[in-house]
Amino acid sequence: MQQRDRSILISFDVEEFDLPLEFGEQMEMQLQMEIGKKGLDAVEQLLAETNITTTLFTTANFAETFPGSIKMLAAKHEIGSHTYYHSSFETEHLKSSREKLEAISGKHVVGLRMPRMKQVLKTDMLAAGYVFDSSLNPTWLPGRYNHFNKPRNVFSEEGIIEVPVSVTPNFRIPLFWLSFKNFPISLYRRLALQTLKADGYLNLYFHPWEFTDVNRFNIPAYTKRHCGEKLVDRLHTLIEILKPEGDFISFSEFLSKKNPASNKTGTQN
Ligand SMILES: [Zn+2]
Repeated sequence: MQQRDRSILISFDVEEFDLPLEFGEQMEMQLQMEIGKKGLDAVEQLLAETNITTTLFTTANFAETFPGSIKMLAAKHEIGSHTYYHSSFETEHLKSSREKLEAISGKHVVGLRMPRMKQVLKTDMLAAGYVFDSSLNPTWLPGRYNHFNKPRNVFSEEGIIEVPVSVTPNFRIPLFWLSFKNFPISLYRRLALQTLKADGYLNLYFHPWEFTDVNRFNIPAYTKRHCGEKLVDRLHTLIEILKPEGDFISFSEFLSKKNPASNKTGTQN
């Protein structure tokens, strides 16, 4: 496949920073939001400097708190749903978050990523108005999930297009946020290029809060390694390395490129 036909999907899960709650630390919502916003500001600057298009899977809760930021980002980036709240979920939040994000961004919202990659019924996603989902990490994460038997590449199921996040072709080594911060950058770069060449696209995801200093919080070392400016630099370097290898586009642009006949995605309200 020619370099110019390859697609690079970078996405950020834009959310209240609630990871410390998982590890028994109390944290007010206001502080969770503050950390999330600090990270988003750092990401916004990085996106402006690198001039790439991405997809921001945003909780409606976060967008309600910072509607101006989300509306501004929606001018260049795709907004997807990361449900309503990061820490609690009801099926009805699929629809209500999508509608809230459409109202705030002024754009159609057709993509979903579930917090913590929780698996929900495709029929529920379809009923809530989604076209695609990217909540599948097709690998085995001990203690979290085992999706080793699921397809590694884009597939359709019950009316929803699933865009799994990238894992390497042979051993299904995940290329998600934890690998990005914990692997040596040279190794991560090699695995990302290998996967991009094999699949014709890359689907990599991060969280804005990783790009701010979260060292003071009681979360495992592997979740905060290189956090803050060091991680901004690391992602900046990766983006520049990948630029000659493919086009940075949103999920909806990627899906209409794959299937030009479908006009369901990416249109303006
Ligand atoms: Zn999340």
